[in-house]
Amino acid sequence: MMESPKPSARASEASSSNDTAVNGLLDGMEKMPKWNGAPKETPKGEKPNSKSIPRAPCSSVMESWKEERTRSLEDNEISLPSIVAAYTTILRGLGEDPQRQGLLKTPYRAATAMQFFTKGYQEKIIDVLNDAIFDEDHDEMVIVKDIDMFSMCEHHLVPIFGRVHIGYLPNKRVLGLSKLARIVEIYSRRLQVQERLTKQIAIAITEALQPSGVGVVVEATHMCMVMRGVQKMNSKTVTSTMLGVFREDPKTRDEFLALIRS
Ligand SMILES: [Zn+2]
Repeated sequence: MMESPKPSARASEASSSNDTAVNGLLDGMEKMPKWNGAPKETPKGEKPNSKSIPRAPCSSVMESWKEERTRSLEDNEISLPSIVAAYTTILRGLGEDPQRQGLLKTPYRAATAMQFFTKGYQEKIIDVLNDAIFDEDHDEMVIVKDIDMFSMCEHHLVPIFGRVHIGYLPNKRVLGLSKLARIVEIYSRRLQVQERLTKQIAIAITEALQPSGVGVVVEATHMCMVMRGVQKMNSKTVTSTMLGVFREDPKTRDEFLALIRS
């Protein structure tokens, strides 16, 4: 169901649907903690005319992000030997000889590579956003497109890679532009399914900024599909999550979809 031969087909299908609940992405929305809003007043001692005031997301957001599963560098060290041993077992199970010269260091390399591919577990969204939210009276759509994305399919442990396009309509608050790519990186460097990745990015932006709306489109190639011959080489899976005005107002959504295709 989720794969589509034409990347644009899925997105436009999403845009014409009233719900935009592509792949049921919005099913879990009610469960997300509500944003309570941070104080609007300029704290005493701050320059009242300073254009951008860094402001941390409020405590309820921090609560939800604090529960993110994390892994420390120390955890990596501790678990490395067992992951190496597991890869040795895998090699043997595949009919290979882990002692032959070319494979001697392979379990170690594979283990450290896998830790790198999943380094998103070592990071928290809250740490990225803390100093990067600014008060701005900007009310035009902000779009960052073609953000490279590399992830791992949680069903087959093989790569998913592609591009992420993000748009949001600010409501007095903007995020440092490079942080959008960081959000993508943190969530994609975990074991994922594309639908969840798309939704997580949209929700993180919504909770951090309380914008008027957010749109996230992910176009990706799943190696588990192309390598197993289920799909053709160039098939891409396109998922989207539209929240706020991106969901409710077809004009806003169409503007976003047109801009990311241009
Ligand atoms: Zn897969």
